[in-house]
Amino acid sequence: MKIIMLGAPGAGKGTQAKMIAAKYGIPHVSTGDIFRANIKNGTELGKKAKTYMDAGQLVPDSLTVDLLIDRISQDDCANGYVLDGFPRTIPQAQCLEDALAARGESVDYAINVEVPDSNIVNRMGGRRACVTCGATYHIVHIPPKKEGICDKCGSGLILRDDDKPETVQNRLKVYHEQTQPLIDFYSKKGVLKEVDGTQEMNAVFEDIVKILGA
Ligand code: ADP
Ligand code: AMP
Repeated sequence: MKIIMLGAPGAGKGTQAKMIAAKYGIPHVSTGDIFRANIKNGTELGKKAKTYMDAGQLVPDSLTVDLLIDRISQDDCANGYVLDGFPRTIPQAQCLEDALAARGESVDYAINVEVPDSNIVNRMGGRRACVTCGATYHIVHIPPKKEGICDKCGSGLILRDDDKPETVQNRLKVYHEQTQPLIDFYSKKGVLKEVDGTQEMNAVFEDIVKILGA
């Protein structure tokens, strides 16, 4: 099963992608997580990506596409995967289509997690991410058991630099200009599914399971 998560930054793509990965036994592939791991490890790719990420801009397709295609070519992706944060532009989507078509494959579902901009600023301002394992929480909606500490690994939680209010507005603008057109792209391919992302996280997941099958 090859699944793409669509939706604005902060819509809950990562939250749902992790739940899908756990239930269906497929890898959760997040380009944002891959870039953050590279930043943490001080790689050349990380240094390049960070300048764009901190400004709320997209990392150029030239740094993103090959990275993602390599990742989904690994053995653990043989039975499918859930992509979170990729594709984010029409050229990225077209490259993915071409790479899959070359293997006689295609995307099965593009799930759009619909959340209006008015909710997004609150979602991202309240998001806290684990510095070690990448788990995400929300200080009001999905709080950790102990404030500031990851339930899963016990490390500290941080507000991502790009979740600061001044960057969030820019990310939303970039989303509407460059990523939202993908909704139409996947609708035309007949694989688009919409879910109401304003519901609480388990209700959103129930709607996704109805689409994917139990
Ligand atoms: P994305 O991957 O789309 O950027 P996340 O999954 O990281 O978004 O979610 C953004 C923030 O909103 C996080 O703090 C997360 O805990 C919270 N969140 C996710 N889903 C819901 C939901 N259904 N209701 C309320 N808050 C949510
Ligand atoms: P995310 O964790 O998905 O919210 O991504 C965080 C940031 O990483 C984005 O704001 C972009 O700067 C960058 N990024 C992640 N995925 C992509 C992508 N597919 N294309 C371009 N930039 C990306």
